[in-house]
Amino acid sequence: MQLFYCETLVVYYHENIYDKYYNNIKTKREKNMKRTSMLVVGFMILVLFSTAALAMQTDTAVTGKEAQQKLLDGNKRYVNEKQTHINQTAKRRIEVAKGQHPFAVVVCCSDSRVPPEILFDQGLGDLFVIRLAGNILNDEAIGSIEYAVDHLDVQYIMVLGHERCGAVGATVQGGEAPGHIGSLVKAIQPAVDKAKSQPGDVLDNAVRANVGMVVEQLKSSAPILNEFIKKGVLTVVGARYDLDDGAVAILP
Ligand SMILES: [Zn+2]
Repeated sequence: MQLFYCETLVVYYHENIYDKYYNNIKTKREKNMKRTSMLVVGFMILVLFSTAALAMQTDTAVTGKEAQQKLLDGNKRYVNEKQTHINQTAKRRIEVAKGQHPFAVVVCCSDSRVPPEILFDQGLGDLFVIRLAGNILNDEAIGSIEYAVDHLDVQYIMVLGHERCGAVGATVQGGEAPGHIGSLVKAIQPAVDKAKSQPGDVLDNAVRANVGMVVEQLKSSAPILNEFIKKGVLTVVGARYDLDDGAVAILP
């Protein structure tokens, strides 16, 4: 009897422990399943949002081809005095105050007669502009361009030289360059050397050679710009602005 009582107690005890243990496992399993489900749902939401964000980015990103067309169309309006001045309003200012999405980088000369927004009939938030005399580059300029390409998704760079460029002209003339002007001359000199061996107008050939040199400098710039070019998402083009008729021509 005593033994039976003991056995019953043991069985009761075991069953009780088992139930507790089982219930505990069941609860844990349910909790785990619930957690896994929540994680899966969270992951799916994340994927959906990322896809939507990527789609929006792709939709808004202006390709190199489109960017060039926008610039040339704007230049045509400027030449024909048919400017729209479309993005020069207070509404546009408020719109771009929230963030910028320029569609092109323009590397051009500091010359007061070559303001890109005017000669391409563009406005606020349209162009990411780098201006140094002789449309040359230094590290800070390249860093600025890398920012535009890498962070602002700009897919098109135009290096814009211009007719009768003073910085190129001074380099062609030679002689002493005072102060920091010497650094400009030093940067442009290889283009002038190349132009001197070509037939035709030395200054204009030097302007063109200088543009070509800067284009090559950007194309081979490591580690950011050359990678974007390799991936096929960045175009670098040279162009020349005519001071007399206002037209921009893409250089071969
Ligand atoms: Zn110039």
